[in-house]
Amino acid sequence: MKLILLGAPGAGKGTQAEILSRELQIPTISTGNILRAAIKAGTPVGLQAKSYIEAGQLVPDDVIIGIIRERLAESDCANGYILDGVPRTIPQAEAMESCGIEIDCALSIEVEDQVIIDRMSGRRTCKDCSSTFHIVSNPPRQEGVCDFCGGELTIRKDDAPETVKARLVVYHTETEPLKAFYAARGKLRTVDNQPTIEATTAEIRKALGI
Ligand code: AMP
Repeated sequence: MKLILLGAPGAGKGTQAEILSRELQIPTISTGNILRAAIKAGTPVGLQAKSYIEAGQLVPDDVIIGIIRERLAESDCANGYILDGVPRTIPQAEAMESCGIEIDCALSIEVEDQVIIDRMSGRRTCKDCSSTFHIVSNPPRQEGVCDFCGGELTIRKDDAPETVKARLVVYHTETEPLKAFYAARGKLRTVDNQPTIEATTAEIRKALGI
């Protein structure tokens, strides 16, 4: 299964990707997580990406294309992958096609903007392994501590309400056109956000026929 998860920031792509990745035994590739790790490590890519991310803007396409080409060439991607947060622009999708990166399905999780804004204020992210939680809908077993690795849970800088609004504008102008791009290739599936994570996963399973 070679799957792209589309959807606004906070639509639940990362959460659903983690669930599907465990079930299907294929890796999730999140460019957001790769960039945050690069910032933490102080690499040249990290230094380049930092200001864009903190402003809620997109990192330049050539940086992303380099990252994704390198990551998908690793052996754990041979049987499939879930792309979370990439492609985010039509040029990224075109570059992926021209590099021969194959996709079976682009699945879009549809959520209204106001739901996103409300939801992002409760999101907590593990400093160490990047797993995400929500203080109401998906709380960790112990407050402030990651269930998976015991790392500290923090609020991402770009989850501040003003930055979330900027990211939604970027989503609608730059990323949402990808739905038409993949629909034209017969690869788009859409699911509506459901009241619980489990119910959304069930809708995704139906849409993917798994
Ligand atoms: P995410 O964790 O997917 O919400 O990504 C966080 C931030 O990383 C985004 O707001 C962008 O600044 C940057 N980013 C992640 N993936 C991409 C991408 N495919 N293209 C451009 N910027 C990206």
